Amino acid sequence: MLKLHGMKADVEGKEEEFAVVVCPRSKNKNSPTSKFCNACGLCLDLKTAMEIDEARANTDRLISELVRDPKV
Ligand SMILES: [Zn+2]
Repeated sequence: MLKLHGMKADVEGKEEEFAVVVCPRSKNKNSPTSKFCNACGLCLDLKTAMEIDEARANTDRLISELVRDPKV
């Protein structure tokens, strides 16, 4: 168990060196496993970003429907 844990830690260290995710907004270098930028909080994970955009679009659509037809 101890040996396995050590190997896993080594691999993770290498991955961080090779594949940092540079934030497009703040240029901060983040771990590839980070979903959000450590510096500015921008979403770095494409899937999560798309989910957030989708949720926001749905909310906008609901609000504009309500504005258009107050009876709903
Ligand atoms: Zn950032």
